[in-house]
Amino acid sequence: MHIGREFHKTVRFGGGLVIMFQTLFNFAGMEQFGACLKDPELLAHARRSRSVLIQFFASALDPAVSEPLHAEICRSFPGAIVTGITTSGEIYEGQFVFHRTVVVFSFFETSELHLLSEPCRKGEEAEVGRRLGLAIAERVGSSSVKGLLLYATSQRMDGAELLGGMRGSLGSVPVFGAGAASYDNNGASWVMAGGKTYWDGAAVVAFSGDELEIKVRDYMGWEPLSRKMTVTEIGDPKWIKTLDGVPAAEVYEKYLGIRNDENFFQHMLEFPLILQRGDKLVARVPVSRGENDSLHVAADVRVGEQVRLGYGTPHHIMIAPEDIRNDLGGFEPQGIMLFSCYCRQVYLQEAVNLETKAFQQFAPAAGMYTYGEFYGQGEEVQMHNASLVAVAMREGRQTESSAALPESSDRPTGTKQMEMTSRLAKFVGVVVGELEQANREMQQLMQTDRLTGLHNRGKMEDLLSGAMQRAESGEEAFALILLDLDRFKDINDTHGHLSGDAVLRRTAQLLQGHAGGTVAAGRWGGEEFLILIRAADAQQAGRLAEQIRAELEQTDFQEAGTVTASFGVTASAAGEPVRQLFKRVDDALYAAKRGGRNRVVVAE
Ligand code: GH3
Ligand code: MG
Ligand code: MG
Repeated sequence: MHIGREFHKTVRFGGGLVIMFQTLFNFAGMEQFGACLKDPELLAHARRSRSVLIQFFASALDPAVSEPLHAEICRSFPGAIVTGITTSGEIYEGQFVFHRTVVVFSFFETSELHLLSEPCRKGEEAEVGRRLGLAIAERVGSSSVKGLLLYATSQRMDGAELLGGMRGSLGSVPVFGAGAASYDNNGASWVMAGGKTYWDGAAVVAFSGDELEIKVRDYMGWEPLSRKMTVTEIGDPKWIKTLDGVPAAEVYEKYLGIRNDENFFQHMLEFPLILQRGDKLVARVPVSRGENDSLHVAADVRVGEQVRLGYGTPHHIMIAPEDIRNDLGGFEPQGIMLFSCYCRQVYLQEAVNLETKAFQQFAPAAGMYTYGEFYGQGEEVQMHNASLVAVAMREGRQTESSAALPESSDRPTGTKQMEMTSRLAKFVGVVVGELEQANREMQQLMQTDRLTGLHNRGKMEDLLSGAMQRAESGEEAFALILLDLDRFKDINDTHGHLSGDAVLRRTAQLLQGHAGGTVAAGRWGGEEFLILIRAADAQQAGRLAEQIRAELEQTDFQEAGTVTASFGVTASAAGEPVRQLFKRVDDALYAAKRGGRNRVVVAE
């Protein structure tokens, strides 16, 4: 085989334990692949393997080249599964290579691979995802699948929707892969699967086999910095119109002084939006500024989600993943696939190799820079942004005494400057965290009655207006209990004001014991309390009032002795004004007082 300047290859011959075997090639273009078709070593491996996967990570894919090539590959490697995807940078031997075609041969001695692919245009994602998921479950059986490799032309459609569609039929199978990317952001992104090359499409390789082990780790490195903001309006899932009601791009101008100039994207990479999905922090990188200061982002967001501006210190980004590399190294992989976001490539520049290079010391490591990485399992499967996904595979068991990991001689280090920026970013993050905590405490204080610790009147009014809205729209009725302590003035007069306070506190404690779930209790005024019960009618509320009345009567109020209260109860009627509702409950309470106190009156 010819190994020249334009044609490199990595071979890893394993010891006796290595069953899966991965080898990498690095060509100037796809046309040069012909050399592999007659390579005796590759052909011999193929004969010994149950499955062969041939992957192209390419700066360009041209159906006129790839489709005839596929036919040739099938003649030399019958039964081989062939996939391809365009990138915004290839990774060969753990290092970024520019404008190349990296080919990864993975030979599996015992594992089985299935390839499925479908065209998928915008709007069809969920349905195509569902069909692919079902087809995998049917053909392979979702219980025996160890992992799914997904490639999709997500520049033109929504990869998150596609995953959403697949999710239902896959259980907890790990999914990993990438959205097709293109050099110079020119949109020429493709996915190849078997003999087909898709401009709009998705391809899945399902890996199964008793001997096969797959370990996936991901890492982001950007950290939340600003206070939380809520996504208040979107155009579509990848288009944020407003945050906290303010045009999204204004947030960047206000906090970071980033204007819409030619360096916009570059700055966005430093400060992507960070949000919580499940128990993971994920990034959304704004890729361009839309009309009315909106932002187009690289992956989906939903209205109501909370985001923060994030900051990526190169120092952290490069150093922190060391434990991931060590974890995967200890797994003793026989092949590693890397899917890293285009953002990392642009942001970290030369340093980007520092984070990927170390993988190569464990196994042939190849992959690509993407426009969105796929990763997760079960409900957590999603399209990521700005992250690095590393997939390690092995057939067969690990060696008994796992050898010590080789010490990396290329451990990434940062400059003094990077370290300082990292500390400043941490400082801002901590200060913001403290302010948020102080805000939460203040909010809590503003809603709490000082004497009793119950909700105060303001908070009860807020709850009430929410309940009124739901009642008005017919969504959910609610009921009110208004109670007033009997002859409370006498307690104050006889035992003193402090004793009166103690009675109020003890009463509040009793009411608090009934609060929670659909029941909210608050101090409405002096010795008057209000209880709001969602999704309840007057009869149900009447029973609760009666229970409280009886408990109160049984309570030992120490020097104040026995304390009772009178109760008015009513339920909301659709469409009635709040004043009318209150008049009814007030009248009921008054009737209870007039009727002799220590009683419940329900106004229907
Ligand atoms: P009724 O059975 O008709 O309700 O008689 P009452 O004595 O309870 O009614 P009234 O409205 O005449 O008296 C309420 C008293 O509650 C008057 C007020 O001084 C007292 N009060 C209001 N707020 C507080 C408070 O925070 N602490 C104490 N100790 N007393 C309070
Ligand atoms: Mg009273
Ligand atoms: Mg009163």
